[in-house]
Amino acid sequence: MLKYEITHRDGLARTGIIHTPHGDIHTPAFVGAATRATVKALTMKEMNELGSQAILANTYHLILRPGTELIKEAGGLAEFSSWHKPTFTDSGGFQIFSLPNVKITEKGVKFKSHIDGANFEITPESSMQAQWAIGADIHMAFDHLAKSESYEDMKEAMDRTHCWLSRCVAEHQRLAKSVTSAGLAENPQFLYAVVQGGTFNDLRAESAKYCATQPVDGFGIGGVFTADGMDEMLKTVNSILPEDKPRHLLGMGQEPVDLFIGAEFGCDTFDCVGPTRMARNGSLYTKDGRINIKNAKYTHDFTPLEKDCACECCKNYNKAYLHHLFKTDEITAKVLASIHNEYFVVHTTDQIRKSLQNGTFQDYKKEFLNRYYHK
Ligand SMILES: [Zn+2]
Repeated sequence: MLKYEITHRDGLARTGIIHTPHGDIHTPAFVGAATRATVKALTMKEMNELGSQAILANTYHLILRPGTELIKEAGGLAEFSSWHKPTFTDSGGFQIFSLPNVKITEKGVKFKSHIDGANFEITPESSMQAQWAIGADIHMAFDHLAKSESYEDMKEAMDRTHCWLSRCVAEHQRLAKSVTSAGLAENPQFLYAVVQGGTFNDLRAESAKYCATQPVDGFGIGGVFTADGMDEMLKTVNSILPEDKPRHLLGMGQEPVDLFIGAEFGCDTFDCVGPTRMARNGSLYTKDGRINIKNAKYTHDFTPLEKDCACECCKNYNKAYLHHLFKTDEITAKVLASIHNEYFVVHTTDQIRKSLQNGTFQDYKKEFLNRYYHK
């Protein structure tokens, strides 16, 4: 089993260490979204230097390009991408169910590639096989994203996710055994179940109870899109999930409030494409809220984006320069902005961890969120 130790508790919140074959993750931690085995606009060296502890790649995108067998041939995700720290893969369920004309069958799901329209079928078994070929430390079970927010659709998606979970577990165990018997046990891989249920607390409770009974290494909490009501939902889910296994809040962390609520109510890791996507559009975090660096008022502003930020962008460049790079559409604009935004969420989550350890979390949360959201 994946080794996870809790180092401090505060209500449902906790700090801890996830010990993976590629190193430790000190939690709570923000995991970089490396959808296609790269965090957009950033090199792995830059990710390392800004303090990132782990990345999460997307199985759907890697199945399409370059193909999971090629990544296996390269020696796995870490070798292929030159990221020699912990790695996760998302199952791709979210992306597949977001495509048009998805057909659910008894076996799995049929869809057309968003790139060239080629036909694909993914099953819980083939998702596990793909994730084992990619070779991340931590895999997510293949889950069904509900087609609407209605109770009926949420229940149907949850029931199917549970049914698929037992097939994912069986296939994961079969693959683990075959790797061990082939003498390759030095690189074990681990599986998280995914809790569904949308905004309905009874479904969330049912899903958490089901996932808790499965022989998995941890849990992803999926289908969360906004911080509204997230505290109650996480309270329900994380009071049921076993305390001694790590929990990943899938796709959340674009808004700083997501990180604070997530950590306060018992989540250990987070991932989100939002910070780097916003950076490429010139929308940059500051402690006083997000700013648009393309705004004319920054033309003559020779101060750094944040004067106490220790990222490479803020240490070396000023707002007028960043504004110029964005106005002239220079590639470097996206690089520097992504360094800053990714640093901001990684560093904020690190500070959340430290505040939990020294008992100042509530003060830090209040001060940070009041200033950021101008309350
Ligand atoms: Zn910065």
